[in-house]
Amino acid sequence: MERDYIIESLTSGRISGDGDFTKKCQSFLERKYSFQKTLLTTSCTDALEMSALILNIKPGDEVIVPSFTFVSTANAFVLRGAKIVFADSSSDHPNIDAGKIESLITNKTKAIVPVHYAGNACDMGLIIKLAHQYGIEVIEDAAQAIDSYFINSDKKKIPLGSIGSIGTFSFHDTKNIICGEGGLIVINNPSFNTRAEIIREKGTNRSAFFRGEVAKYSWVEVGSSFLPSDILSAFLYAQLENIDKIQRKRINIWEMYFDNLKELQNKGDIQLPKLPLYATNNGHAFYFLCQDLQVRTDLINKLKNSGITGAFHYLSLHKSKFYEDKHDGRELPNSDRFSDTLIRLPLFYDLEEEQIKRICKTIKSYFE
Ligand SMILES: *Cc1c(COP(=O)(O)O)cnc(C)c1O
Repeated sequence: MERDYIIESLTSGRISGDGDFTKKCQSFLERKYSFQKTLLTTSCTDALEMSALILNIKPGDEVIVPSFTFVSTANAFVLRGAKIVFADSSSDHPNIDAGKIESLITNKTKAIVPVHYAGNACDMGLIIKLAHQYGIEVIEDAAQAIDSYFINSDKKKIPLGSIGSIGTFSFHDTKNIICGEGGLIVINNPSFNTRAEIIREKGTNRSAFFRGEVAKYSWVEVGSSFLPSDILSAFLYAQLENIDKIQRKRINIWEMYFDNLKELQNKGDIQLPKLPLYATNNGHAFYFLCQDLQVRTDLINKLKNSGITGAFHYLSLHKSKFYEDKHDGRELPNSDRFSDTLIRLPLFYDLEEEQIKRICKTIKSYFE
């Protein structure tokens, strides 16, 4: 299917950005998740950089970001001169501890960037409440969170990426829905619609020109080039058409791991992921926690010797080479603990039940 659409795109003779497949992907996502406005981008990193431009982030502004995340969550705002105020994770989930955000807010705070780790929602009820109270924007880094939801106090499922003023997604190879390299920006505040289009089109009003709204297009704003080729969108559209199938399969794999490893949790050897009551599981990643760094290192080696890739994840950004001397010195112990003890198991569409059983058996034999 991906191949067919790519050939269709090639034979159409129009392979630059904003072609037919880009539009098909955008309307598909807008329909399925009731997103107000979406624009495909070349990556989630670019969608985050666009967000920083849309919000007019300037030197001196402060942006609250979890320390346990991918560099792009912070980098996008550092590029505009912002100071990153790193927040700790919750004690029982790698997501930002929403209860500790208020103490980090100052009169320079411009944005909070919650990251929905493993596709599990952050406590968006509390984060949005704080944002309204203090007049701060919320940018959801929903890179891993396609087809996942926040369950609000009325028990309603709200798609992640549609809750903050902006949401950003990734279609990188490592995510659930992929096109090699690709991303999406979701604009939930309509007052950003026009600027988002302009910033994505090199600072020009070219999109309005193509809709016939202006007679000529010209340079009206700062901007850059954030459009993916329609060849990539063609690949992505085939993926989106199969999203329900892909999601079922991934969630099934996730649940097989969980059921297989329960006995290790019962024995106290590992800690399985805990899903907050307000979050859904989109089968993005299966992880668990080891007792300490030494156990995790040994386990990764044991798996490696059996030809299985177990992977740790983020190293706390507040301790990174680039940011350690810019950080304000606060300890972020939960973030550090997830850096040291979290291990991810292979999770991809073609993974077979037999392979999952073998992986779990290898893990169990380590703890024997
Ligand atoms: C993958 C990822 C990104 C970056 O996505 P790209 O599309 O590769 O730029 C950003 N944030 C998080 C949390 C991610 O998992």
